[in-house]
Amino acid sequence: MLRTFKVEKFHAGIIPESTLFKVLRYLDNENIETPFLLIDSEKVKEKASLIGRYIKNSKVFYAVKANPDIKILKFLNRFKLGFEIASEGELKILLSLGVKPERIISSNPIKSLKFLKMSASYGVNYFSFDSADEVDKLSRYVPGCNVYVRLSVPNEGSEWPLSKKFGVELDEALTLLRYAKEKGINPVGITFHVGSQCTNVYNWNIALDKAKALWDMAEKNGIKLTLLNIGGGYPIRYTKNVVSIETIEKNVNKLIYERFPKGLEIYIEPGRAVIGDAGILVTTVIGKARRANEDWLYIDVGVFNGLMESVGGIKYSYIVESCKHTRYKKRWTIAGPSCDSFDVIDNNVSLPEPNVGDLILILSSGAYTVSYASEFNGFSIPKTILMNL
Ligand SMILES: *Cc1c(COP(=O)(O)O)cnc(C)c1O
Repeated sequence: MLRTFKVEKFHAGIIPESTLFKVLRYLDNENIETPFLLIDSEKVKEKASLIGRYIKNSKVFYAVKANPDIKILKFLNRFKLGFEIASEGELKILLSLGVKPERIISSNPIKSLKFLKMSASYGVNYFSFDSADEVDKLSRYVPGCNVYVRLSVPNEGSEWPLSKKFGVELDEALTLLRYAKEKGINPVGITFHVGSQCTNVYNWNIALDKAKALWDMAEKNGIKLTLLNIGGGYPIRYTKNVVSIETIEKNVNKLIYERFPKGLEIYIEPGRAVIGDAGILVTTVIGKARRANEDWLYIDVGVFNGLMESVGGIKYSYIVESCKHTRYKKRWTIAGPSCDSFDVIDNNVSLPEPNVGDLILILSSGAYTVSYASEFNGFSIPKTILMNL
């Protein structure tokens, strides 16, 4: 079935034309029930080889929570990157794919006992921590493991901040590194997270300054660190241009090699940047209404079954399927299908008017969408389809 979409110039600044072209061709040739998430595997491959390229001596660990679809993990497993996980569920998927424990790390500072026991039996050996209780747990369940302390760093300019829940200040971090050593586990390094979808390069500068201060404090206390884990946070384009990975990495690389001792190892844990802009959600308009002077558009993916991040402020770009006659645009409130009034994705979105039954494509929706989704109210979670395998 040939479909007509209102593709505009700015869309090509959000996702590559090659990805968009593939999606449109796919939709012409396949007639699958919505909602579903199309992933351009070539784009994933490109990102997997781009990330880490400009940081010397770095290893990349994909943050599995961004999208743990087994087909995606299987695909990523072909490349040389590792995986960052937080739970027994994520570990089980990797086990089923035969991923070796040396390629798995866990940077969740608070881990369940079940997960620690499973990690120990499989041989996962790198963990973050930011409390004395976690040191007690790690030394008991994974004796001799390697640990890196999570520093608290500014998250300003990140659309999905992570700093309040985790991380400690310098003095506390030093105390914890010393305590880890005392308890017989290996304090090997430092980690931080500048916040997810971080568009502010300055956050990495401040974080690296802080990490360097702790590095020196540790050395003065007889703890020689070797690992700097710079976490995730690389941004993608949703509605506007963002600083490129190349710019971020060149800056980080420069700061690290100016200030830190030679020979240290760098870990990077991208999630969103690996899979986010390779994905397009395909949804259907299920209703339209006018209420209190607002035009409402209801689609079959909402806050509960895929677009949870919209509640935290992530705004998406949309492409509307539409008959040729509609030229002018309206301002829409876009809502999900459920009966909950919390299920509103965005408002004031300028789009041409679609018909009920038309498709709406949601760009850059490969990360933190399906992995957050529930079947609340009986609406299905979008299935994931990898294109061009
Ligand atoms: C979520 C998470 C990541 C990935 O963050 P992105 O912003 O998606 O790159 C990396 N490390 C840790 C510890 C995380 O919790």
